[in-house]
Amino acid sequence: MTQKPFEIAIIGGGITGVTLAISLLKRNIRCTIYEQAPALGEIGAGLGIAPNARRAMKICDERIFEAFQRVGTYSSDLSGRPVWIDFLDGTSPTPAPELKPKFSIMSPPVGHGGVHRARFLDAMIELLPVNKEGGGEGGILRVGKRLDTIVDNGSGKLQIKFCDGTTAHADAVIGCDGVKSRTRELVVGLDENGNPKEGAKCGYSHKYAYRCMMPTKDVAAQLGEEKCQNPCLWMGPNRHVLTFPVNQGQLLNLVAFVTDEGEWPSKTNTTLPATRDEVFKDFEGFSENVRSLIQMTKDKSDRWGLFDLADNPLQTFYKGRVLVIGDAAHASTPHHGAGAGFCVEDVAILSTLLEDEQVNGTDDLEAVFGAFDKVRRERDQWLVRSSRRAAETYEWRNKEIGTDFEKMEKDINARQGMCWDVDLDKMLVEAREDLGRRLGKTAA
Ligand SMILES: Cc1cc2nc3c(=O)[nH]c(=O)nc-3n(C[C@H](O)[C@H](O)[C@H](O)COP(=O)(O)OP(=O)(O)OC[C@H]3O[C@@H](n4cnc5c(N)ncnc54)[C@H](O)[C@@H]3O)c2cc1C
Repeated sequence: MTQKPFEIAIIGGGITGVTLAISLLKRNIRCTIYEQAPALGEIGAGLGIAPNARRAMKICDERIFEAFQRVGTYSSDLSGRPVWIDFLDGTSPTPAPELKPKFSIMSPPVGHGGVHRARFLDAMIELLPVNKEGGGEGGILRVGKRLDTIVDNGSGKLQIKFCDGTTAHADAVIGCDGVKSRTRELVVGLDENGNPKEGAKCGYSHKYAYRCMMPTKDVAAQLGEEKCQNPCLWMGPNRHVLTFPVNQGQLLNLVAFVTDEGEWPSKTNTTLPATRDEVFKDFEGFSENVRSLIQMTKDKSDRWGLFDLADNPLQTFYKGRVLVIGDAAHASTPHHGAGAGFCVEDVAILSTLLEDEQVNGTDDLEAVFGAFDKVRRERDQWLVRSSRRAAETYEWRNKEIGTDFEKMEKDINARQGMCWDVDLDKMLVEAREDLGRRLGKTAA
């Protein structure tokens, strides 16, 4: 494959940035990741990977999918049932082993795909010619580089300025810098005092979460075998708990979600320290099944404020040759288990467009970003809105549904279908046609 005559700067080395780098290098497109942290890394929590995400991985690079297959865990392999999530009454006094789901959402043929985030990121970093700290061939990863601003001085290359005073140059910048994206602030624009405009910031979704992983053997007697093998969502008023297996069923990932009518207490931190007693207090009124799970979590944990762009959807994902993708473009609450999957979809579409034979130079990059924005923004922003709604449903706060579990099952099935049944090939055809129009050419 001939090398494209342009170079891309990727801001942020999370799942989106790393997937993008692998995908671009496979297409012989030069790129460099600039990551603010001293090394690439993910937290020790679980991540659900759905069919749409797995299809998108294959478009990006088959090796990403293979990496997931190596470290991921499918519910069907553990329990023989292709279940996405069993929905349970988290307030029922029936002991967990005997408790029947109110309904189950199935995702044939393999069910829920769960993975330990840090293990998955490590498996992907192995596909890059660098190690986590940026050592290795080609210098395609620069760590300790926090984006400050981007200057278009008309010379062709964009100048990228970092908070440590250093600079770099590239033909285009792709912001994969997550919820607190600086690139998003630059795309939306700064006010006359150089401060980010209101519309560039994520808002508090009025939900927070506690996350932890525990050895499955410690909870097996309490939960019963099947509830350790299949993802379970323990519903209840204003709160819900999600559990699913990772590491081939050796670990159980737990996320406990709470509705918070107040404001998030910190202006600077989206994560605050918490104790098990506080979690316990938050789940007063839930059954012994749920409370005994909480009892087994660590004494000290964190409370994660869930911030998203539901109240401030971006009017555009790009400005000139600067684009945002992943959480930087559409930070979402996690209630469809799909945020990262949509990030990988973004990468699949964007890298295929950049590879397109119609794209021959720096002057074509803005058209690529325009075509990307056209085909992705509506779907990405739907997820943000629908995810908020899903949590209201799980917590019996959705006025149209309440505790009508038949209605609930239908609604969740339809929305998960929207997440999973995307036709990425069709989207790619549309994107290439749109690109052709923007470039004044006919798509091949
Ligand atoms: C509780 C919870 C559960 C979730 N569960 C799921 C799930 O089951 N399935 C799913 O698909 N999704 C899930 N998600 C969503 C998923 O985690 C995100 O969509 C995904 O991780 C976003 O990846 P990203 O690379 O875009 O952003 P991030 O992971 O936030 O990465 C951004 C990177 O950019 C770097 N950075 C930030 N600012 C700068 C700067 N100025 N300069 C340089 N570098 C910078 C950061 O250090 C970081 O490395 C969940 C989210 C939460 C909060």
